[in-house]
Amino acid sequence: MAHEKNVLLRRKFDSMNLHEFQGKAILKKYGVAVQEGIVVDTIEAAVPAAQKLTEETGTSWYVVKAQIHAGGRGKGTVEETGSHGVVLAKGIDQVEEKVAGILGGHLTTLQTNGKGKKVNQVLIAQDVYYPGPTEVQEFYMSVLLDRESGRNVIIYSTEGGMDIEHVAEHTPEKLFKEHIDPRVGLQGFQARKIAFNLGLSGDAFKNMVKFVPCLYNAYVGIDASMFEINPLFKTSDNKIIAVDAKVSLDGNGLFRHPDLAALRDKSEEDPTEVEADEAGLNFVKLDGNVGCMVNGAGLAMSTLDVVNQVGGTAANFLDIGGGANADLMASALDVINSDKNVKSIFINIFGGITRGEEVAKGIVEAVKRVTLRAPIVIRLDGTNAEEGRKILAEAGIPDSQLTSRPTMLEAARAAVALAK
Ligand code: GDP
Ligand code: MN
Repeated sequence: MAHEKNVLLRRKFDSMNLHEFQGKAILKKYGVAVQEGIVVDTIEAAVPAAQKLTEETGTSWYVVKAQIHAGGRGKGTVEETGSHGVVLAKGIDQVEEKVAGILGGHLTTLQTNGKGKKVNQVLIAQDVYYPGPTEVQEFYMSVLLDRESGRNVIIYSTEGGMDIEHVAEHTPEKLFKEHIDPRVGLQGFQARKIAFNLGLSGDAFKNMVKFVPCLYNAYVGIDASMFEINPLFKTSDNKIIAVDAKVSLDGNGLFRHPDLAALRDKSEEDPTEVEADEAGLNFVKLDGNVGCMVNGAGLAMSTLDVVNQVGGTAANFLDIGGGANADLMASALDVINSDKNVKSIFINIFGGITRGEEVAKGIVEAVKRVTLRAPIVIRLDGTNAEEGRKILAEAGIPDSQLTSRPTMLEAARAAVALAK
């Protein structure tokens, strides 16, 4: 169906993040050793999961890890209980209590922008920091796209387990980079150089040389824009394993991976953006109070500029795209209307393919359907604008709900004044 295709083409997916347990499952497929674990979403499932993990791995201690789309969980705090987001259970008898301290709570970390994220799932993982013949070591390793050089880059460091930005700032000499030409792929000598720079020898060296190409293949194979392992861990018996996994998938590659697209966790995203996405609309949430509905990305940018120019700030912008009909207009208004910060709505349409009378019919229908939280100011120009304005004028919508202005600047002024 033409309409469906149009909606798919306009789907907004800059990138999509995965949970730690999902990233680890991908790594395992590519032959990487990981800290094993079982994910649960109820307290009742915790102890049976821990028992199963002991059968599979022999572990007698467990690491309970909140699964949210943000790093720094170990140092983060659960609002309701004061627990950290990653905690150690020293025995099966502690598992239930540790899980209860995290699951269902709101976890705040340095990466959650001040607001706690609801923890819907926890990973019960094996303890891999057990004592043995050598010291354990925490490294850092990530693969990402270096746009400047047009190549992939492996960034790695002996200083793992901590904030990598801190390492970059205070001890930049401990951060290494290895560029990889995507046409040639990762070369054997590069993996050996990495293992050498990390100060490894013997079995640990050999295991690192095996680890690096598997991680690189995983990054390339799933069209990731970033695959970060922190800490990348050397056990006391010289195994090299991924203890954490942070993955961002390139939205433009997602159509090649329906299995990965299905892993999307909408509970981690802005609810208004999810709603817009489902309606096939491009919606971007911003910090101000003027809701903006426009057609086309270029007009979106100039609308934001004009709102700023007249002293206002946009709460969001919603791009209804090229071929808006009455239905799409109505759901677009629904989306803007569900944004609590919106104090006025600025509809700025320049009809090209989008026809003025369709826009007008959509608005009339939407105003009938929803209780608007804010007044609308509309500037309608371009194809069939005259007819559109006539429809709006004759619809009998009171001025307190909708007014029309002939130019973009005047409409912006009116919308900003209403928002104040
Ligand atoms: P992050 O804080 O969100 O990056 O979560 P991580 O998965 O990196 O875990 C945070 C910290 O928990 C690690 O840096 C370790 O210090 C600790 N940790 C993780 N796994 C284990 C484990 O198996 N045993 C012990 N004792 N500590 C662990
Ligand atoms: Mn980590």
